[in-house]
Amino acid sequence: MKVYNTATRQKEEFKPIKDNKVGIYSCGPTVYWNQHIGNMYAFVNWDILVRVLRYLGYDVTWVMNITDVGHNTSDGDEGEDKMEKGAKREGISPWEIAKKYEEQFIDSLKKLNVVIPNYLPKATEHINEQIELASKMEKRGFTYKTKTGLVYDTSKFPDYAKFANLKLEEMDVGNRVEVDEEKKNPWDFLLWITNQPNHIMKWNSPWGEGFPGWHLECTAMSTKYLGEQFDIHTGGIEHIGVHHTNEIAQAFGAFGHNTANYWMHNAWLTLKEGKMSKSLGNVYTVQQLEEMGYDPLALRYLIVSTHYRSGLVFSLDSLKAAEVSLNKLRSFRVENAGSKVNEELRNEFVAAISNDIAMPEAMAVVWKTVKSNLNPEEKWATLLDFDKVLGLELDKEIKEEEIPEEITKLAEERIKAKQEKNWEESDRLRGIIKNKGYLVEDLKDSYKIKKI
Ligand SMILES: [Zn+2]
Repeated sequence: MKVYNTATRQKEEFKPIKDNKVGIYSCGPTVYWNQHIGNMYAFVNWDILVRVLRYLGYDVTWVMNITDVGHNTSDGDEGEDKMEKGAKREGISPWEIAKKYEEQFIDSLKKLNVVIPNYLPKATEHINEQIELASKMEKRGFTYKTKTGLVYDTSKFPDYAKFANLKLEEMDVGNRVEVDEEKKNPWDFLLWITNQPNHIMKWNSPWGEGFPGWHLECTAMSTKYLGEQFDIHTGGIEHIGVHHTNEIAQAFGAFGHNTANYWMHNAWLTLKEGKMSKSLGNVYTVQQLEEMGYDPLALRYLIVSTHYRSGLVFSLDSLKAAEVSLNKLRSFRVENAGSKVNEELRNEFVAAISNDIAMPEAMAVVWKTVKSNLNPEEKWATLLDFDKVLGLELDKEIKEEEIPEEITKLAEERIKAKQEKNWEESDRLRGIIKNKGYLVEDLKDSYKIKKI
């Protein structure tokens, strides 16, 4: 198994610390608002990583944190706390906000068939661990105190800029609104924040009543559940420059070494029509896609068809096409397929997933299997075996609304008319179908029928 390690900027042979056991920590969601499909893209990709390792025989422990406190609107220390902003927006307490959006997050995981992590620790439930960790850094001389709180002194960690190749001397700090003017270096960061009278979520600490900085929870919780040194730490590429850089600094401050041996980062889901934004009304959640009539696993199909470091350009058209492909795969279902998996195809599949999770290549093997002349039982058994990694629930009955045969027949006739470029007839048939209460939507090479 080879994985791309951000720490060394190259693909490396993956070697677990202990036998075949693998510990993975993934930076999880901040539960202050709905997780949209862009957020969920990351979690599906790390679910694929976990599934790949388990498929290859590793015993994986997966930890993902839930940030429910102390996370500002930007990665740095500045800006309003996201949880409290959400609470103001909705007129409920930050605790209620956290609960509400944690549920939406878990629901999204389930709809996308993400394996639920072994541990989903919450920041608010690990305040003592965070205080303990910051105390360790303090004892080892990596911190100083200001009126705003306890600050990590980056000058004590000579390799601070190394992980993200930061050019600190060129960093434009003029644009940053600093909450703490007493910082020695602009990139020094707060471990514990005090003297914020308007902040609702607060706890006692050796440095006064306050709350932890965002970066602290990930180092505290990853090491609590996986040990001071573990195998893989994941996150989005946006985490490299600040969040993970600071996590590594914290680990060095507290333990004198890095926590994770491999740091893996996903690129982003972007929209074909440009930026995802609430004002443009194109920020989709998994729940919304489902309400629009899509199978959430069609989104998963799109994600498993791309590489985690390449990102995904999303559009509703591509989602429709993905649903067609997904249902095509499901149509190879046979009863009592048995367990005879084709060795040769399996080897090709394993080669792809072992190469830094090359999912596009793995999906090529899936379609090669479909097109092969294997007997239906072996074909289906092989596809089901691959589905342990894909997580597409291929075994599920094709999710079609009950479309009467009469309607399907009319739609088929219409497609024929279209192919013959008989537009008049195709429009006439569309009208008949519509009058009977159904809508035909054209896809690239096929069509979809929906109840109106
Ligand atoms: Zn994190």
